[in-house]
Amino acid sequence: MAELNDKLTTLRGVGPQRARTLEKLGLETLGDLLRFFPRAYEDRRERRTIDSLVPNETVCVEAMVAAEPRLTHVRRGMDLVKLRIVDETGALDVTFFNQSYVKNQLLCGESYVFYGKVGGSLTRKTLTNPDFEKVGTGKVAGRILPVYRLTRGISGRQMLSMVEETLERVGEIIPETLPREVLAEHELCAASYALRNVHLPTDFTALDTARRRLVFEELFLFSCAMESVRDRREKGEGAVFSEGDVEEFYRTLPFAPTAAQRRAVADAVADMRSGRAMSRLVQGDVGSGKTMVAAACLYLAWKNGYQGAFMAPTEILAGQHLHTMERFLSPLGLRVGLLSGSMKAKERREVRRQLADGALDVVVGTHALISEDVAYARLGLVITDEQHRFGVNQRARLRGKGENVHMMVMSATPIPRTLALILYGDLDVSIIDELPPGRQEVRTFALGESYRTRLNGFIRQQVQEGRQVFVVCPMVEENEELLPALRSATEHARAMQETFPELRVGCVHGRMKSGEKDEVMAAFVAGEIDILVSTTVVEVGVDVPNASVMIVENAERFGLSQLHQLRGRVGRGSHRSWCFLMSEAEGEEARQRLKVLCRTNDGFAVAEEDLRLRGPGDFFGEKQHGELGELHVADLGADMDVLQEARDAAVKLMSADPLLQQPGHRPLREYLQTLFERKADTWN
Ligand code: ADP
Ligand code: MG
Repeated sequence: MAELNDKLTTLRGVGPQRARTLEKLGLETLGDLLRFFPRAYEDRRERRTIDSLVPNETVCVEAMVAAEPRLTHVRRGMDLVKLRIVDETGALDVTFFNQSYVKNQLLCGESYVFYGKVGGSLTRKTLTNPDFEKVGTGKVAGRILPVYRLTRGISGRQMLSMVEETLERVGEIIPETLPREVLAEHELCAASYALRNVHLPTDFTALDTARRRLVFEELFLFSCAMESVRDRREKGEGAVFSEGDVEEFYRTLPFAPTAAQRRAVADAVADMRSGRAMSRLVQGDVGSGKTMVAAACLYLAWKNGYQGAFMAPTEILAGQHLHTMERFLSPLGLRVGLLSGSMKAKERREVRRQLADGALDVVVGTHALISEDVAYARLGLVITDEQHRFGVNQRARLRGKGENVHMMVMSATPIPRTLALILYGDLDVSIIDELPPGRQEVRTFALGESYRTRLNGFIRQQVQEGRQVFVVCPMVEENEELLPALRSATEHARAMQETFPELRVGCVHGRMKSGEKDEVMAAFVAGEIDILVSTTVVEVGVDVPNASVMIVENAERFGLSQLHQLRGRVGRGSHRSWCFLMSEAEGEEARQRLKVLCRTNDGFAVAEEDLRLRGPGDFFGEKQHGELGELHVADLGADMDVLQEARDAAVKLMSADPLLQQPGHRPLREYLQTLFERKADTWN
């Protein structure tokens, strides 16, 4: 009897090697494969005649190979197969790049179904690298075909046949997790129907029905888990910080706190006085002044005789925070220290000793703060900055360093309210929706290549005035290296150095060791580098007030919220600042998206707009995967209404039956139990 837990090696043609390749995609069992949703679909139902084709359409054409395909070697590493195909309405040129083997697969006089994007002109149409199969095979033509994320060593067709075989074997025995009353009330289809049709939809209505159910299910289960965490947390005790008054702290600040900062601090203070452990997310746009909120809370902890830990995702940021905390807190008498991986063993030992015997009140650091050998005399508050870089389980470990520890998480990613409720359902949320007075807007422009020379002139001028420049390139995946339009950071840095021989160009990218990265960043902060070319490693809170220009290459490849984060790296000092979004992308949608940033500097407005244009995918992006219980909603293109509905349903069900004791809720209870067991670190 087949089971969802069966290994993929039980499928036809899947040996140990292919199984290893599939593991790279996170696939080990039949169940994993069924939950590996297509990232797109190709509608290959309609066949078109050659005379009806228009350039830029993606179509299926049935046609006959009119002459023997010709193979030519253009240069080393590049060969072409060219052929002409005909139907009763016209002829078409087909070219294959570096696929010499198709020469022997396409036979003169035989008919095939070709699928691809029409190129050329109306009078001379072409197809490049089309997919094809012999007429009558019916494997990939005449149907809606799923398109999967792939990796080297697995083709789309292999993936398809594995999915087909899996559905044949286990399609009928997929268990239903959702309670019957929830299915009925929200008009959702059964699990087995949904999984079959999300992979092999009979038509687009079936696909929509399937998709809606899967999105609902995912968010529903996730929200139920969140509710149950929240329920347990609300019963958890927290140290009571009854002493002290943050007004005393405010009086020593070099500026007056904004109303929004005051509100966030007041929320936190109320938590820390309540007797329950605080779990609060503080969300505020870049530059909204979250660090001060953290300092106020650390001050309160100290007033009550507790230590505080402030955790940052990188050494650079930890260093910056140390500096800020010393400025804000040392004058009040707090003893502040740093603990980071790059410190000498002897220094680290000394700091650890001071933490253990209570000689330090506040420690700032990287994940070194949670390593096994760090003990605290009396830890009462843990704050993590830019939480996306920390897993939930890392936060949990830090919390475990003391009893009844209060926890605050700070994030600069503005997330629309509905989504925040879902993603951070276990946290209370404070939003800092106001920037300190006198901030300058970053002037933002979306430009094409034709502006390159002028832009270079502008860079030169800014550097002459003493400013510094960020250039950000998208991460280039292995299989994209050949696309000429994409600029990888290292290559682009080389090109920039050639364009600006008189300037100092530096480069940081993800494949460098963290020590090397930090060195380059430190040099940039110190003003020893004029132009810093990087991948998105600069996205997170680095403060370089002297930088006045942010250039993003291939801007169309970034999410709007991410672009907004990047833009937030400039305009942090008194200098007028600019952001240039470089893009040659065609298409109205790409242009519309970039224009949103040119129109507004408000992160929440950007986030809402992003949500409207692209759906919530971006927010559930990769960083959430594998962390909170693997959300795949992004892959499914969920819409906001379903998110809200699913959450409401979860809240309703969990408050009616918190321990899920009703018989109909048993599969749900079992699901949550396995989730909590499997991810004990994360959820407990
Ligand atoms: P972020 O929310 O991005 O972490 P920061 O805490 O780094 O923002 O604050 C950005 C800058 O604004 C810092 O230089 C900080 O000193 C300053 N700042 C914070 N709050 C205020 C305020 N109320 N008035 C003026 N400047 C402020
Ligand atoms: Mg910050």
